Amino acid sequence: MVHIRQLETYAEEHNIPIMQKEGIEFLLEYIEKNNIHTILEIGTAIGYSAIRMALLSKQIKVVSIERDENRFSMAVQNVHDFHLEDQITLLFEDAMHTELSETFDLIFIDAAKSQYIPFFEKFKKNLNPNGVIISDNLSFHGLVETNEEIKSRNVRGIVRKIKNYIQFLKENEEFETTFYKLGDGVGVSKKK
Ligand code: SAH
Ligand code: MG
Repeated sequence: MVHIRQLETYAEEHNIPIMQKEGIEFLLEYIEKNNIHTILEIGTAIGYSAIRMALLSKQIKVVSIERDENRFSMAVQNVHDFHLEDQITLLFEDAMHTELSETFDLIFIDAAKSQYIPFFEKFKKNLNPNGVIISDNLSFHGLVETNEEIKSRNVRGIVRKIKNYIQFLKENEEFETTFYKLGDGVGVSKKK
């Protein structure tokens, strides 16, 4: 695979939840406008968003964490195919166990929805003073905003966790969050 379009098709065919078009476009534009150079991504999947971010500029460096072995292996292959090994560092771990000492301009949280609060708390120390934490899937296919009854117990649980996370962001003393209803719902959190 050497074209972005091929990654999108692969993800669609294999049900890999890569960022939606509007969401990724917003993220890329945000990175460019705000002169972001260093990025920590939690949730690599097959490397789609990491590759898109790295392709913006040679100066951009991405560290991305993935705990699923198959997806991680595909991401390694894809990063290789795009010749982005110098810009993208892939870590095969559960992000809850990752300890990093470096700091980043952007931390992008796009992994297990049940862990968003712990991810936020764990990695905020890795943020540069003017850094930003961006979280994906705050709408969860529109289910967060809906009042309809959700049949699946599992999905209900995820939606409850996302609602808790949104509440956590709204009440946060340290960070101010702006919520955008694009893609699958994106939150941008900056230090107050
Ligand atoms: N950012 C990617 C999509 C990520 S999908 C893109 O837009 O291209 C979410 C991924 O997070 C899944 O592949 C899942 O395996 C991974 N994940 C979930 N919880 C994780 C954790 N605790 N640590 C590392 N990876 C995790
Ligand atoms: Mg996502």
